[in-house]
Amino acid sequence: MVELVQDGKIVAFEQVPAIQWLRCGTSTRRCTFSSANRAENVAEFAQLLRLNPTAMVFSHQIHSDTIEVIDEKYPLQHVIALDGVDAMLTTLRDVMLTVFTADCVPVFFADTTRPIIGIAHCGWRGTLLRLTQKVIGQFLSMGSSPEHLIVWTGPAICGACYEISTELVEKFRAEFGDILFQQGIIRKRHLDLKKLIRLQAVELGVLPANIFITELCTRCRQDLFYSYRGEGKLCGRLLSSIMIEL
Ligand SMILES: [Zn+2]
Repeated sequence: MVELVQDGKIVAFEQVPAIQWLRCGTSTRRCTFSSANRAENVAEFAQLLRLNPTAMVFSHQIHSDTIEVIDEKYPLQHVIALDGVDAMLTTLRDVMLTVFTADCVPVFFADTTRPIIGIAHCGWRGTLLRLTQKVIGQFLSMGSSPEHLIVWTGPAICGACYEISTELVEKFRAEFGDILFQQGIIRKRHLDLKKLIRLQAVELGVLPANIFITELCTRCRQDLFYSYRGEGKLCGRLLSSIMIEL
């Protein structure tokens, strides 16, 4: 079942437990943002989510495992454009964190017991670099317990649609072992990024019941989403945002 709100412009994560202070969403291609200017698009998406952030943060993503904690050292009255960062966390209210994707996985994180949130952009490179686990590690270093974390994904390419090279299959086998094949995360040369993100969260103690993987595939559903594999690199990008609103 596809869960959409706002005239089909936003994916609603209805499975994710409602937390009073937590706001989040992923755009669909029905969002007609006015320009390719990412700062403007982030501001328009905030309006669509009915958020009124004091700061909006995004990054020129590079498929790295670099994580930035957004705290008071930033001028929190602006659009903040980071460079080379693929995951962000914050404990600050009204600071909207955003990632851009088209087939890559937007991964959301929150501590259910206190306001601390994160978001990551995970393609195959970020997944191979265990970016999801590094974000969870950052939560733990900031005092969170894994059993209090919830982790969920936005729309991203499915395993059936995502064929990779033999060389890349071997890189993943070397990093994660045969469990990938035992759990059907890799079938022949098809990689299921979302299942591998779930495995990474479970390995660090996040409860399986607290991990929510959307079945929505960006390539299967090009009527709803942008797909790099389906449309090429000039395709648009989906925005995924998360914010603490107290
Ligand atoms: Zn698919």
